[in-house]
Amino acid sequence: MNISRLARSIAESPTFALNEEARILRERGEPVINMGIGEPKNKTPITAILSSAARLSGGDVKYTPPDGIPSLKKAIIRYTEENYNRMAAPENVIVSSGAKQSLFNILYSILNPQDEVIILAPYWVSYPEMVKMVYGVPVIVTPEDGSFHPRMEDIKRAVSSYTRAIIVNSPNNPSGAVFSNEFIAEIVEFCEQKKIYLIMDDIYHKLVFSGAKWEPAYKYTDQDIENTMIITVNGVAKLYGMTGFRIGWAVANRKLVEVMRNVQGQMTSCASHVLQAAAEGALNGMQSIVENLRLGFENNRTVIVKELQAFNGIRLIPPQGTFYALPNFQAYIPSHLAKDSVELSKLLLKKAMVVTVPGKEFGMEGHLRLSYAGSVKDITEGIERIKWVMDPSSPNEIYIGERKLVRDWL
Ligand code: PMP
Repeated sequence: MNISRLARSIAESPTFALNEEARILRERGEPVINMGIGEPKNKTPITAILSSAARLSGGDVKYTPPDGIPSLKKAIIRYTEENYNRMAAPENVIVSSGAKQSLFNILYSILNPQDEVIILAPYWVSYPEMVKMVYGVPVIVTPEDGSFHPRMEDIKRAVSSYTRAIIVNSPNNPSGAVFSNEFIAEIVEFCEQKKIYLIMDDIYHKLVFSGAKWEPAYKYTDQDIENTMIITVNGVAKLYGMTGFRIGWAVANRKLVEVMRNVQGQMTSCASHVLQAAAEGALNGMQSIVENLRLGFENNRTVIVKELQAFNGIRLIPPQGTFYALPNFQAYIPSHLAKDSVELSKLLLKKAMVVTVPGKEFGMEGHLRLSYAGSVKDITEGIERIKWVMDPSSPNEIYIGERKLVRDWL
């Protein structure tokens, strides 16, 4: 069978693979706790349901323009004005099948083979793979001080004449860090000066907890959308808990959006008409939904931080946003339990039915990403089970579902 070298080199999305494993176990009746996938548990906002239902019941579901239906673009323009304090024209906006497609499309449209993209570790698993998929070269920059906050001097050192873009994701998946406004100001100035695209993945931008403040990158440039190097990416997946609707968007200069529209037109034609209507409903509906989600995550954050701080040997930089924490498990790996985060994650699933994502996937070996998008019960029970597997000072008996289990490996 002929499979291209490139396609063969692209890794499976580890979060989806783990999610599938969890689903199969749950179907078998196993008491799985999924701290793997990043997915709010809320019901779809009613305005999104009504708006897509109206499209369906009207029976008028057709191709749309490749860059999105005008009414959704209008809602995105208003969103951009309200949240980014910038006026976008319809020609600056493109709607895609998820923020994921927007990001891929941006990379496809700006990179030539061998061009480099700076990715800041810890990073979202898909960035390096997406860069590789368009024959680009991911250049990973890791903070040397063990923090989750990038430093401009490290980034400057990694920039070469091939650098075309830097991807910034704050609030950050997987660490929950919110980057300082000084850093955002500096990186904006640097990219404007060097003519390097600054791709702001703002998919979690409203999920920020008290004490931290997210500011749009546009705030730090005098350039308008047409002339700035900033590209923003956003979507309804995380803020409205509409992951399954697959609607995201990008805001960029007209020329780039025109190219992206051509690419999308050849690739998927357009995002689904019904789902675009749903996104429009969410953006035009009650925004208290987002704040309610945020409050729930903030409460969960308090719980998970407390639980992890009481965990022997675990070091945690408390998340300031999103619904992820990235505790450091280096006190336990490598050890006889597991040689690295991948083995540790497998062990936790096997022994305790808890799904976690190995830090290795995010460029942070020694860590595990824990999603706290679930219930408080799942969080406390999940951490209790992880402790039971690893920490000899925790009780050596535990109930997992109906079963009483005894630890005999420490
Ligand atoms: N960017 C980041 C940082 C994400 O975590 C995700 C989803 N996990 C996405 C983009 C993709 O969002 P969407 O579901 O809209 O494609």
